Amino acid sequence: MQKTRRVAFKSLLAHEFLEMIDDAFFFFDYDLHFLFANKKGEKLCGKTKKEMIGKTVTEVFPKVQETAAYKAYKSAKRKNKRTFFKYYSPDLKKWLAVTVYSTKLGMGVYARDITDHILATEKAKETQNILNAFFENSPVSLAIHDEDLRLLKIDNFSSKIYIGKKPSEVVGKLPFEISPKNAEIVTSMFKKVLQENKPLFSELPLYDKDGNMHFTTASRFPLYLTNGKRGIGSIILDITDRYEHERRKDDFIAMASHELKTPLTTAKVFIQMLKKQLVDGNNGLPLEMVKKVEDNIKQLEDLIEGLLDATIVNQGRMLFNREKFILRDIALKTIANLQVSTKSKLIVDWQTQEYLYADKAKVTQIFNNFITNAIKYSPNATDVIISSKKDGNFIIVSVQDFGIGIPKEDQIYLFDRFYQAEKHNTYPGLGLGLYIAKEIITQMGGQIWFKSEEGKGSTFYFSLPIYKRRMGKTTKQIAVS
Ligand code: ADP
Repeated sequence: MQKTRRVAFKSLLAHEFLEMIDDAFFFFDYDLHFLFANKKGEKLCGKTKKEMIGKTVTEVFPKVQETAAYKAYKSAKRKNKRTFFKYYSPDLKKWLAVTVYSTKLGMGVYARDITDHILATEKAKETQNILNAFFENSPVSLAIHDEDLRLLKIDNFSSKIYIGKKPSEVVGKLPFEISPKNAEIVTSMFKKVLQENKPLFSELPLYDKDGNMHFTTASRFPLYLTNGKRGIGSIILDITDRYEHERRKDDFIAMASHELKTPLTTAKVFIQMLKKQLVDGNNGLPLEMVKKVEDNIKQLEDLIEGLLDATIVNQGRMLFNREKFILRDIALKTIANLQVSTKSKLIVDWQTQEYLYADKAKVTQIFNNFITNAIKYSPNATDVIISSKKDGNFIIVSVQDFGIGIPKEDQIYLFDRFYQAEKHNTYPGLGLGLYIAKEIITQMGGQIWFKSEEGKGSTFYFSLPIYKRRMGKTTKQIAVS
């Protein structure tokens, strides 16, 4: 073959070849003039050869000047033989994988559009970040195990509560290495999920790191991991509080029914006796009996009132009828009334005369509740000291008894709805008085608290703000929500 023909053939071959490859290909001189672009190059740039050849890259793509790759090229002293970099083109709005070969004549540049790949990688990273954030902050237990039952991922919270270690310390371990007490039941569930290949819902007790039992409700389900492997996802909700609340509610219903039935039965007995006397034409002691019936009906009324109050408080629908009054006046009256019907000695040390601006009936109710509790929970003591003193802008009222006191473990729950100290369940009551009192006092701007020692007695306190002139200007009746 003649030399010229050989050259022509070679160049034709190279040309054909450059059109065949998958990448966009360009050839530049060292001043970055386009000397050649294949069809894929035209397509990638959205420009024809005519629009590019002979022009510099910055004439065709002005924004290229802002890019790090361009700046690096400009400042490089010596052009490398081969350079590879990933590059975002602001003109094309595409990610490109670029390979540059330096030759004597200029540079051959291969560019591949990797935008989809980059976006997919970023999306995967985003998904991973979101998942990590869920695992780091979830109040619900989350875990992923592989098909060999090794832990792949666990949330921070349950790792701390149930295992007592950081997630990084337990990843890769088997259930019996992590929590031997829970291992058997958990393993059998995992196996079932893998065998049946469907979600499994369960309610089961789990032990935490200190051996305390938690009631949980859990969903465990199959997952499909990479390389055709399977795994198990778990979502576990601790329902101990709900469970306890339900139990207390059931106890409460039993207790409330009993409490309501007692005065009703007594009233019924007296009515029957009264009826018999009337039928027999016997005058007997009808007035005494009617009084007894009346007392029992009053008891019943108080119980029902308490129940209604608790519902209203719970729904945030309590209404307050505020007025200006001196607490001393109603306190002394209430004490005198209670003293008539108790063997306890109600000792009064009342040092305040100030006005309150509050709901008189509700304050009286709380005061009454404090004193009747002091009497009720003092089966072997007689003295109850009722005092009031001023503290800054507040009146503090206290009721001290020398009765059975409150066990330490019950003290934090005392203002909860339906709560009665475990050891006090032989005493009548619904466990509502203090719950209602706390709501009322708090809504009226005061505080409620107590000190108690088991076997020695208790002192209950409440404080309320002293009346100031501008208080009366607020609306008289307000609903609290
Ligand atoms: P109850 O109707 O059961 O007395 P309360 O809400 O008034 O309801 O009181 C809640 C619980 O607080 C009581 O069941 C009792 O266990 C405890 N308690 C309240 N006052 C006293 C007190 N003075 N001494 C001992 N325990 C008390």
